[in-house]
Amino acid sequence: MSLPVESKARKPSLLTLAGLLSVALVAAFALSLTAFAQALNEYAYDFLFRLLPPASWQPGSIILAIDEATLTKYSGVAGIRGALAAGLQAIAPARPSAVAIDIVLADQSPVPGMDDALERALAATSKPVLACELMQDGARWEEPIERFRKHATALGEVHADIDRYDAISRDVPLEKVAGHDRRWILALAAWAAAKNLKIEESPDDLTAGGIRIPSRRRDGRTMRIRYAPLAMGGIPRISVAELEHDPGLVSRFAGKMVFAGVTAQTAMRDRWMTPLSNGIAMSGIEINANVYETISQGQFLTDTPAAFVALVCIGLAVSTGLIFALTSGWAAYVLALLPLLASQVIPAVAFAGGAVWPWLPATLTALFSVAVAAAWKQVRVRRELTHSQQQTNVYQQAIQFVTHEMRTPLTAIQGSSELIGRYATMPEAKRQQMAELINSESKRLSRMIETFLSVERLSAGQMELKQDVFSLRDLVSSCVERARLIAERKRITIDLRDLPPAELTGDRELMEYAVYNLLTNAVKYSPPETRVTVYGDIRDGEVRLSVRDQGIGMERKEVARIFEKFYRTSRAEQSGEVGTGIGLSIVEQIVTQHGGRVQVESEPGKGSEFTLILKQTA
Ligand code: ADP
Repeated sequence: MSLPVESKARKPSLLTLAGLLSVALVAAFALSLTAFAQALNEYAYDFLFRLLPPASWQPGSIILAIDEATLTKYSGVAGIRGALAAGLQAIAPARPSAVAIDIVLADQSPVPGMDDALERALAATSKPVLACELMQDGARWEEPIERFRKHATALGEVHADIDRYDAISRDVPLEKVAGHDRRWILALAAWAAAKNLKIEESPDDLTAGGIRIPSRRRDGRTMRIRYAPLAMGGIPRISVAELEHDPGLVSRFAGKMVFAGVTAQTAMRDRWMTPLSNGIAMSGIEINANVYETISQGQFLTDTPAAFVALVCIGLAVSTGLIFALTSGWAAYVLALLPLLASQVIPAVAFAGGAVWPWLPATLTALFSVAVAAAWKQVRVRRELTHSQQQTNVYQQAIQFVTHEMRTPLTAIQGSSELIGRYATMPEAKRQQMAELINSESKRLSRMIETFLSVERLSAGQMELKQDVFSLRDLVSSCVERARLIAERKRITIDLRDLPPAELTGDRELMEYAVYNLLTNAVKYSPPETRVTVYGDIRDGEVRLSVRDQGIGMERKEVARIFEKFYRTSRAEQSGEVGTGIGLSIVEQIVTQHGGRVQVESEPGKGSEFTLILKQTA
C-alpha cells in the first residue's frame, strides 16, 4: 500500500517554463552567431530574392560590351583599348547621360596610336567616368594616366573585392578609402556625374538628388544590390562588334547611363555569382550597372536592426510560452504552429517591404521554444495525472483505514448486542460480561475517532492543545500494560527499564496514543520471542523516551519516509502484519504539537529504535 516514489515530485511551475524559454532564446541567439548560421541566413536571403522580385522597371543604364566577338575583331586583349575607343566614338552622337568605363587605364598601350585613338574618343564622350583601383597595399590608387584622366568628369573605384566564403555578390561597399582619400564606387560616381549631384554624407546614409542611400559608415558603407529581376532580362547590353555591324543600335544609348567594359569570359578578371545566377557568373561591369539601377531606382534593401530582431524573438518565445501555459491538448499544438509559421512569414513580409530579416534567429527561437514548452507541458500533465491518482489512493487508503481499524470493535459490539437480544434468559454474569465488552469496545472506538479527529484539528490549527500535567512513568507504564497483551501472543518480552521522574505537559490521551503506537509497532514488526526495551533519560533538559526492538528494521531511505501518511516499507508489507501506514504520521503530528520530535535509528534485519524527545515541564 506504499505510495509511488513520485509522490514527492512537484509539477514544473510557470517559473520553470520561463527559465526553459530563456535558455531556448539564449541558445537560439548563440547559434545564430555562428558562421554556419550566417551562411543559412544568406541562402534564405537568396531564396527570397528569387521568390519576391520587385516589379520590373525601365533600366536607365545600358552596357557597352567588349565581348568575345569584339575581342576577336580587335586582335585580343591587346586590342581592348582600340575596341573601347571605337565603341565610345560610335555612341558619342547618341549623347548618353554619362559613360562609366570599367577598365583601369593606368599605363600606356604598347600598340602605336591606340592611346591617341582612345584619347580622341574620350574627348568626344559626354561625361566619361574613369576607373581607379585601390592597390594591394591599400594605401595608394592605381589611376588613369594623365592624358586620359584630364578628360574624366569623375573617377570611380572598381575593385569589387568579394571575399565571401560563397563568392556570391550580394552587396558592395559604396566607398573605398586610401588614407584620407575616399572614393566612390564607379556606379555611384557615374550616377552623381550624370546628374551633376553632390553626395552628402552622414553616419547612416548618403544622400544626393533627393535619394537617400542607406549605408552605414561603420559597416563600410555597404549597400545590398537589387539585381534587375530575371523578368526584365537583365540590363540591356550591346557589344562594340554589334554596333559596328548595325550602326542603327546607337540610338539605344541616347540619354542612357552607359557602362563600358569587358564581358568576354576569356579576358574578364571579375565575374561573380549573384543571388539570381543560375550557375553563370555576372561580369563586373554588369554588377556595376546593377548597383547604378539600385541607386537610381531607390530599390534599397536594408538590414533589420539586431535589437528589433531580438525583441521579436523574445515575443515569439513569450507567446509560445503563453500558448502552452494557457491551452492544453491538441489546441496547444495547433496554436504552436503559429509562432513557427510567424518565424517563416516574417522574413518574407519584411523582404517584400525592403527589409532584410535574418532567417535563423527567429526560426531557431520558434523551434526551440515550441520544443521546450511542449516538453514542459508533457511533464506537467503527467505530474498532474500522477498527483490526482495519488489523491485517489490517499482517499482509498483512508477508507481502508477506517474500515480496518473500526471493524474489530464494531464486530465485537454487534456480536455481543445480538447475543443479548437473542437470549432472553442469560446468566447474569455472562450478560454483565457482554455489557462490559460493548462498553469497552465502544469507548475504544470513540477514543480512536477522537484521536484521529483531534490530530487532524490540531494540525489544521483548529484546536488548542490540552495542558494536562502528567508523569512520564504513569503514561509509559499504562501503555506498556496494554501492549503486553499483544506482545504475549508473539511471546515477546517488553522490558520496561526505570524511567526518570519527569513531568510532561499536554494532552495525555494523545501522548498515550503516540507511545502505544511505538510499542505496538515494535511488537508488530519483530519476530516472536524477541525483546522490546523501553527506557528513558533526561539529557540537556529534554526528556528522551526510547522504544528499541530486535525486529525487521528499515533501510535508511525508508526511514526518511515512514512519517508520510500511508507509507509502509516493503519489509512491513511482506511481514504479513496488517497496517495502514497512518500511525506514525499521527505520532509525529502529536509529538510536534507538543514541541517535541521523533528520532529513528534502524538497521535492516537487526532492529529499530524510536526515540521521542519531549520538553520537560518546568
Ligand atoms: P502501519 O504500522 O499501520 O503500517 P505506521 O505509520 O505505524 O503504520 O508505520 C509506518 C511504517 O513504518 C510501517 O508500515 C513500517 O514499514 C515502518 N515501521 C514502523 N515501526 C517500525 C518498527 N518498529 N520496525 C520496523 N518498521 C517499522
